[in-house]
Amino acid sequence: MQILIFGSPGVGKGTQAKILASKLNIPHISTGDILRYAIKNESELGKKAKEIVDRGELVPDDIMGEIVKETLTDPKCSNGFILDGYPRTLNQAKILEEILKTIKNEKHFLIKLDADDEIIIDRLTNRLVCCKCGNILNKSDVKENFSCPICNSLNSYAKRADDDESVIRRRLKVYHDTTAAVFDYYKDKAVIIEIDGTMPIEKVTEEIILKLVEN
Ligand code: ADP
Ligand code: ZN
Repeated sequence: MQILIFGSPGVGKGTQAKILASKLNIPHISTGDILRYAIKNESELGKKAKEIVDRGELVPDDIMGEIVKETLTDPKCSNGFILDGYPRTLNQAKILEEILKTIKNEKHFLIKLDADDEIIIDRLTNRLVCCKCGNILNKSDVKENFSCPICNSLNSYAKRADDDESVIRRRLKVYHDTTAAVFDYYKDKAVIIEIDGTMPIEKVTEEIILKLVEN
């Protein structure tokens, strides 16, 4: 099953993609996670990407294309994948079509999660991420000397560098100006599943699974 998960920053793509990947037993590929890992390790890619990501802009299509090609042509993706955060431009969508032609090109599903910008800004300004395992919590749930409920690390929750309000606004602008158009490109190329991303996490998952089995 080849699944693309689409929607504005902070709409819950990563959260749902992780759950679906484990339920469907296919890998979750997040281009944002790949970039953050490269930045943390100060690799060549990380050095090129850091400033761009910190500003909330898009890393150039050719760099992203190489990353996605390398990842999707790995045998672990041969039974399908959930791609989270890619494609973000029309050109990236075209590059992806070319990559998929070289591996097994199956029916794709595009899951689009929706939420208004005000909800997104509120969520992201209050979001903390475990720097050890990537789990996400709301600021109000993380107290002093807090251990991560998932990996038990102590005081491991921090704000993502790009979850600063002015950068969030920039990311939302990029989404509306550039990324939103990718949805139209897929209207006649994928099975489209549109879900209200403001519902509770479990409810969103349930609706997605329901629509996946229907199709
Ligand atoms: P979010 O969708 O919550 O903003 P991601 O973790 O998906 O966050 O991505 C974080 C940042 O990584 C983006 O703001 C952008 O700078 C960069 N990035 C991720 N995926 C892509 C992509 N496909 N093309 C260009 N830049 C990307
Ligand atoms: Zn953790």
